[in-house]
This record gives sequence, C-alpha cells and structure tokens, in this order.
Amino acid sequence: MISDVQKIDIIRSTTESSQESTVQRLGKDNRKSLTARVKPEDLIVFNQRLKLFGFNSINELVREFIACRFPQVTEDKQIGNLIQNTQSNGQKTALEDGNNCGSFYHNVDLEDMFNYYQNIRNLHTKSCRDLIGYFRRFRDQFFSKNAEELRVLSPRIRSKIMDSFRKFGQYYLYKYNDDSCIDLVSKIIRRYNLNAGNNDHSRLYIVDDNYLEEKLRMLLQLQGEIGLIVRFAMFSGLREDELTYIHRKEVCSNLGGCSCERLHMIKKPNGLTIILIQWHRGHKKCYFSIVPTALWEAFRSLPFFDYNPHIKSAHSYLKAKDKDLHFMWLRKAHYNIMCRAMKPFEANVLAGRAKTVDAKHYAMYELDAMSKSYADAWKKFGIDFSS
Ligand SMILES: [Zn+2]
Repeated sequence: MISDVQKIDIIRSTTESSQESTVQRLGKDNRKSLTARVKPEDLIVFNQRLKLFGFNSINELVREFIACRFPQVTEDKQIGNLIQNTQSNGQKTALEDGNNCGSFYHNVDLEDMFNYYQNIRNLHTKSCRDLIGYFRRFRDQFFSKNAEELRVLSPRIRSKIMDSFRKFGQYYLYKYNDDSCIDLVSKIIRRYNLNAGNNDHSRLYIVDDNYLEEKLRMLLQLQGEIGLIVRFAMFSGLREDELTYIHRKEVCSNLGGCSCERLHMIKKPNGLTIILIQWHRGHKKCYFSIVPTALWEAFRSLPFFDYNPHIKSAHSYLKAKDKDLHFMWLRKAHYNIMCRAMKPFEANVLAGRAKTVDAKHYAMYELDAMSKSYADAWKKFGIDFSS
C-alpha cells in the first residue's frame, strides 16, 4: 500500500527528473491501475464471463461497475442488504445500550419510541399506543420473507401496519440519525405489494369515532364569520379553491338538464341542497356538493369571501385552538363522516376524487340516495338538518 505522502514524493521525484511533457501528462491523467491476481485456469473462466456479460475489456467492466450499471441489483437483494446493514448498526447501538439479543427491530426501546410519538410528534396517546402495538405484533413478520403473508389482512389493518412501520422508520432516523430504515420499510411495502387495495381511503380514514365527535362538537360551537366558514367547509367537504369558486359563481335558474357552466341547485325537502358544480382543473374534479340549505344561504350572503383573509384566518384560528386541526382537516373530517354511511367510492365521488364515469352516473341517477346517505351520516354524530 502506498500512502499519500509517498505518492507525492514519487510524483515530485518523477517531475524533477523528467521532461516538461511528462509532467503535463501526469497532471492530466490521474487514473490508478488496479490489479487482481488470478490463477491461470481461472483466467479462461474470467474471459468467458466477461464476454457473457457483454464486456470487451476489464476496463469496460470496471466503468459499468462504478456507474452502478453492473451488476443489476434487484430490489430483493437490496432489501436483504438493508436488513443486514441496519442489523449490524442496530446491534452496535444495542450493545451500547447494554442489551445484546436479536435483531435491530427487537432492540428498540418501545417506551422511548412511545415518548417520541407523544412528545416529539405530538400524536394522541391512543394513536401512540396503536403504533407501538402494531409494531410489536408484526415486526418479526414484516422484516422477514413472510411479509408477503400480511397481504391476506384487510386493507384497514394493513394500512395500520404500514403506518406503524413508516413511523418506526422516522423514529429510527430521529434516534440514530440513519434513514436506511425508512428506505427499508418503503422497499418492503413495495416489494410485497402491501399497499394493494389501499387508496386514498385508508390514508384519509380516521378510525376513532370519539375523537371525531369531540372535534366536531368543538367546531360547531365556533361563532361569527369564522364559525360559518368552518361549518361550510366541513359540511361541504370542498377544497379551498372550490369554496371561493362557488361563493362567487353565478347560479343558473334553469333546472331541466341545463349544461351551462353556472352552478345549478337542487333543493331537497330534507333541509339539504345539492349544488352541481362541474368544475374541473387538471386532475382535480368537483362534480357536486351536498350542503344544508340554510348554511348555503348564509355562506352565499357573505359579501366577500376569498383565500386571503377568510380561509387563511380560519386556518390560523383552528391551529391556534387545537394543534390537530387545520383548514384542510375539515375536508378530511367530511370524508370520514360520509364514509360512516356511504361506501368509500361514493364518498370519493362526493369528494371529487372519483373517476368521471362514476361521478356522472351519480350526478344523474343517485343524487336522492346520496343526499339521504349524507343526512344519515351526520345523524350518526347527532346532527339533523330536517328539524
Ligand atoms: Zn344552466
């Protein structure tokens, strides 16, 4: 092995004793030669394999190897490597902690993890307990070849498992300043297709009814214009730009299958109004919304409504009142409440997340059923529009 100091000495002595042209060449081409010692009988094998993989020279092989184009590492192999790497790091950390058994995911201090979720991530105590519970129960399977078997579980349970392991990855990063666990978790999820059948629904689904009810009760008590805006956002489930759009958009008085671009209203006897919006921009689509009639009228009578200051103020107000809340949370809550009485894809139609075909079908044939489901959903939370 030649040290750097020695190398400099060699270059210096070469420079001193040779012509200027040699010095220039040395400066330009600073590549190193690598040598490998091979038995004569292996040399034939080596040349065959070189040809087999499509290389004309060992230089080509080395170039491809450095550029990560050879060998092609499959995701399976990467997962194996990552588990191994994380394992050895974890064992080192575990040794420092005075605990020497099992693999990196067994050496985690669950209590410390719980504290991280509660105090650093500000999660609810119940969510923290859930995350730890799922992690403890499924860690052996998740980090093994049997992870595939997790696919037989329902999408709801799988989404809880994935959530617990993704958060574990974040905890690992926080604790050991090492993001390889985040990487590992997402690779396992992708490799074993644990996401299959999961969509927006599982991402947006709030499991705890009591939690939802408690927040609703607080939100419904908000007074003044802020209260009105918050209620309208929550009962309509519309996105921010859709709210400002329908506030200023002209209403068409023609109800018989008119196709103009104005808003069309269908007033229902159960105290609800269906607003046909049909506003599309990019991949965001808004077909229609169902809102309590009285609330719609109050919202439309606001002389002025825009992102700034109305939505912005409502947003800061909510955040100051409750650290879990923000303006877009209202749309999430709406979706969750709808899911208590509708099938997820119907709730998706209402939230403007569905395919056009579904939505058109609903807009034409199912609005009555939909407005009934809407009313039933809120009734589950003690809210009745017909009285
Ligand atoms: Zn019209």
